[in-house]
Amino acid sequence: MSKQRKAVALISGGLDSLLAAQTIQQQGIHVEGINFFTGFCVEGHTHAIRKKDKDKPKRNNALWSAETLGIKLHIIDIIEEYKDVLLNPKHGYGANLNPCLDCKVFMVGKAKEWAVENGFDFIITGEVIGQRPMSQRRDTMPIIAEESGADDLLLRPLCAQNLPETKPEREGWVNRDLLHDFSGRTRKPQMALAEEFGFTDYAQPAGGCCFLTDKAYSVKLTDLWASRGNREYELDDIMLLKVGRHFRPKPNFKLIVSREEGENNFLKGYKKQFTTIKTISHKGPITLLDGTADKDDLILAAQIVARFSQGRDADKVEVEVADKNGVTQLLSVKPLLASEINEAWRV
Ligand code: SF4
Repeated sequence: MSKQRKAVALISGGLDSLLAAQTIQQQGIHVEGINFFTGFCVEGHTHAIRKKDKDKPKRNNALWSAETLGIKLHIIDIIEEYKDVLLNPKHGYGANLNPCLDCKVFMVGKAKEWAVENGFDFIITGEVIGQRPMSQRRDTMPIIAEESGADDLLLRPLCAQNLPETKPEREGWVNRDLLHDFSGRTRKPQMALAEEFGFTDYAQPAGGCCFLTDKAYSVKLTDLWASRGNREYELDDIMLLKVGRHFRPKPNFKLIVSREEGENNFLKGYKKQFTTIKTISHKGPITLLDGTADKDDLILAAQIVARFSQGRDADKVEVEVADKNGVTQLLSVKPLLASEINEAWRV
């Protein structure tokens, strides 16, 4: 009897990795999934915070994919190790702060290590040749296989027929004829295959949830680093960049102003780490002050917060400022006019 072969699948939560894993499962291979937690992809979390996203599923799409496939999913925290990938990408960044090529090399390399440690034979990804401008090009896909150390143990089932044969195909572990020849940016073949497999409720859009590909997010991250004079970050820093309106009225402090009730609740969780500002006389947003602020700065901050409260047209708004230790002070301020909110403050 031939040996039961095992493949580890990189599961992002998107359609492509779901289809790739199913394609290989259908060939009788035992598949388990790995999802790497960088801190920059927390889609379910963001939807859970914001009311406006209330119709989007509050789920972890990687877990959902694994459940749909009926496979085990290993979620691996790589927050610390990933910092070097993000800060020093050998192959540079994509359109924003996304170091896609280095990221893929890193993740496939980690998956290879995991496969060796756990007795798995090969690695699969949902990559499609020509689909992404940086990491999924004909000339960059071999770089991922080579620099990750996975070499020909890396199989891309969705476009394998467009690529040189890998060991799993050569050895007959999988049948190359039953793999696919997808290429380019069109999603039609993936949607047809999803239909064939009976998958209907998959994550949309296909681009995944990585905030590093987002322009506004990348601008905020760059501002955070510039304000600190170094490029260090912790998980809380990168989570907060996804929440609220961000203003930097002066180099020494930034305001994170909540936009709705869900964000209010989320920001309240940070009251022991930041100075918190809220309006008392009128309903208004919870705001975190990140940095240091003197008396004049606090007045300016309170005027900005008041601008976003229901007292925006009032002569005076009462504002409470609480420091990290819970020591409060009350300020009575005139809200800034819309025209006084300097566009250059917006991060
Ligand atoms: S989009 Fe984000 S997670 Fe995906 S390869 Fe690029 S940097 Fe990595």
